[in-house]
Amino acid sequence: MELPFAENYKIKMVETIKRSTREEREQWIKDAKYNLFNLKSNQVFIDLLTDSGTGAMSDKQWSELMLGDESYAGASSYYKMKDAITNILGFEYFLPTHQGRAAENVLFSTLVKQGDIVPGNSHFDTTKGHIEFRKATAIDCTINEAFDTENTHPFKGNVDLNKLEKVINEHGADKIPFIIITVTNNTAGGQPVSMQNLRDVKKLADKYTIPVLYDSARFAENAYFIKTRETGYADKSIKEIVREMYTYADMMTMSSKKDAIVNMGGFIAMKDKTLFEKASMFNIVFEGFITYGGMSGRDMNALAQGLKEATEFEYLETRIKQVEYLGKQLIDYGIPVQHPIGGHAVFINALKFLPNVPRNEFPAQTLAIELYKEAGVRGVEIGAIMADRDPVTRENRYPDLELVRLAIPRRTYTNNHMDYVAAALINVFDRRNAIKSGYKIIKEAEVLRHFTVELEQL
Ligand SMILES: *Cc1c(COP(=O)(O)O)cnc(C)c1O
Repeated sequence: MELPFAENYKIKMVETIKRSTREEREQWIKDAKYNLFNLKSNQVFIDLLTDSGTGAMSDKQWSELMLGDESYAGASSYYKMKDAITNILGFEYFLPTHQGRAAENVLFSTLVKQGDIVPGNSHFDTTKGHIEFRKATAIDCTINEAFDTENTHPFKGNVDLNKLEKVINEHGADKIPFIIITVTNNTAGGQPVSMQNLRDVKKLADKYTIPVLYDSARFAENAYFIKTRETGYADKSIKEIVREMYTYADMMTMSSKKDAIVNMGGFIAMKDKTLFEKASMFNIVFEGFITYGGMSGRDMNALAQGLKEATEFEYLETRIKQVEYLGKQLIDYGIPVQHPIGGHAVFINALKFLPNVPRNEFPAQTLAIELYKEAGVRGVEIGAIMADRDPVTRENRYPDLELVRLAIPRRTYTNNHMDYVAAALINVFDRRNAIKSGYKIIKEAEVLRHFTVELEQL
């Protein structure tokens, strides 16, 4: 008999999670104004809201916490983090920040000004927020294949070079402070970017002397897909692939809550010393002194260890196979999901799942609420609510895809939990035709409204 795949870890500490009844959940979600971010964590049984900061640290990471050096300046923890960044990612200069959006705030304060254009593959919500907050414009140049959920292109995170060059020619290189590549492309469904594409974007950027920035939250998962899908990389280690990826970048921002497997943390890394010096000033103003930047010494230690673990093949294989395990059950039942299954999450195509709910009643949000009511599983809308209003016209923006994301925290749930989630979604799918109306917004913020939006059932 062929041996089945099994996780490359065993469990040393557990946390109890609580079941609830449908009646309780219906009341709780109503009290939460139908915004899943407003639920209390103990009102959720399986929490797939995000894979950000929700992973389980290893015994080695926990032991690193005890070795943290909390000196204000020059802590050994800072140098541990620096060594990990230099060795694994190949950058000489770096600044710690308290999380990924803080890295964006510091770096964009240095580089982005009013009227600028920032092209790339799909921008992450906080990244776009930080661009638009500075009255600059983010332009999505992702390949068209990404917007067809049935298409099985192996690298749907790729940048379309023609679209990119058109943007450069239209606006002029001097309006473009950098090109941003998000690895993996979260917004398009956790889809990877190929090494070839990273190389090609760098070549095009060099032609116009524009720097390249990687928004790097899931860089290790991206490397796993390069190893398993791209010709010429099967025999290379993840660490070798990661090193090559970053030879085509000038700088990076990182949310360490993803592929560094810590609960809080981030950083900026760059190759250029002058940029480092300019950004250092903003880091000191917004985050803290340059050798801690909003992080405790112990957290910098855990982060350094996390970077090492996340770039091991066995870890990534366990991680991505679990996401695939859930995705495959949904596909087998005919539930419309983004193909191929992404690195950190399964993305459900809500327009196909709930065809009777009009677009302006937010089908993805409606589906996320139904799933919560069904089984206490919390996912998140990646659709028109998250897309915010157009900053100029103030009209709702309807993105090409209207998705519900089920993000799987790293090393946290078992495959039994995945079976439970699949069954819950299948139950909702079976009664999908009876779901004919959605929600309307009664209160919203100007930017990043999905975090605090309040809704009313129609
Ligand atoms: C999470 C994330 C961010 C923002 O990081 P935070 O740590 O949540 O502030 C930026 N970009 C990408 C691609 C992310 O996944």
